[in-house]
Amino acid sequence: MRRYYFDYAAATPVDPAVEKAMRPYWSEIYGNPGALHWFGQEASAAVFGARDRAAKILGCHYKEIVFTSGATEANNLALRGVLRGTFKNPKPKIIISAIEHESILETAEDLKRDGAETVFLPVSKRGIADLKKLKESLDERTVLVSVMSANNEIGTIQPISEIAKIVNDFRNRKSQTNSKFLIPNSSFPLFHTDAVQAFNYLDCDVQRLGVDLMTLSSQKIYGPKGAGLLYVKNPKNWNLSPLVTGGGQESGLRGGTEAVPLIIGLVKALEIASQKRIGEIKKIKTLQEYFWRKMKTIAPAVQLNGDWKSRLPNNLNLYFPGQAGQDLLIKLDLAGFAVSPGAACSARICRPSHVLKALGCSDAQATGSLRITFGRQTKKSDVDKLLAALKGLVCYNKKN
Ligand code: PMP
Repeated sequence: MRRYYFDYAAATPVDPAVEKAMRPYWSEIYGNPGALHWFGQEASAAVFGARDRAAKILGCHYKEIVFTSGATEANNLALRGVLRGTFKNPKPKIIISAIEHESILETAEDLKRDGAETVFLPVSKRGIADLKKLKESLDERTVLVSVMSANNEIGTIQPISEIAKIVNDFRNRKSQTNSKFLIPNSSFPLFHTDAVQAFNYLDCDVQRLGVDLMTLSSQKIYGPKGAGLLYVKNPKNWNLSPLVTGGGQESGLRGGTEAVPLIIGLVKALEIASQKRIGEIKKIKTLQEYFWRKMKTIAPAVQLNGDWKSRLPNNLNLYFPGQAGQDLLIKLDLAGFAVSPGAACSARICRPSHVLKALGCSDAQATGSLRITFGRQTKKSDVDKLLAALKGLVCYNKKN
């Protein structure tokens, strides 16, 4: 049976050029980049070159890139690393959106247990963060604001430059007043964005966006699994604490021998994704529009979760009234089509998605929804086949 993949937001296949770029670093160029001899220096030069190229793509200095094992670690480093030194002050505060990925949400909950105050920014019905509430929540105790660039379940795009401006303006006002700040570091609050789902389709130049920290993951951009990075603006200006201490790698921000082949793969994937971005947007947006137009004629009762306009071109998160999302997913899988029930449902756990709940969806709506995500290999003929399969499975009477 032929199988069709519609779960690019979960994982992407490694680009052949990425695989090729990584190849020599498994068994030909295998020295430890920390070693002084020729073998070590050869590997070290490769990591340095990759770091420099990543910095050019993101519009920053190479010393501002910290390679990690993926986005979960990068998000943890951003939140825990920033908060760590601030607990001696009265209750440090962090502000995050209610629809962040679990690696931010769970970490924020954990920091709450350690004594931080966590504010969850509500989102509109369309999934856009409430900026009025952000402005009201910013105060002298605020150490960090974290809002994702694009959501992994519903694909909604947040106004990152606008949020960066709000945080920057607050920071500037704060440094101009003479009041005694409870948090003495004038760099605070910092602004972090998880841009994992955004990088394929949105400009992620850190200066143009005005962010202080940014997370990326290799496996979502046609790179290898197990690699990611955290951009950290001027890390010397404030005390980011490492999560993993050891041999002083990554300028002391992440101990452990650098995963050379994965770093090479991640950076090659960044290069390809940024070069292909404009073409990919055009191609994938056409498929998204085509699918949604056809879906509405096949089953007019089907609803789109999240904003249509401010949305990644590869995402369709759909509510199928009267259907159990998981049953539909399994029926589709048996017919050869891989889709996702939303990030809250995996082989490990299943509960109504916190993202759909934050949008105000009922439990029935949250559990009756599916996420369909397109990618580089998706063809119009594949989309037609998925539509035909859905037509056979989603039987609505006229009243629906
Ligand atoms: N943030 C977002 C928005 C994600 O979609 C994911 C992956 N689902 C992560 C973080 C975690 O990424 P990784 O698997 O690289 O740790």
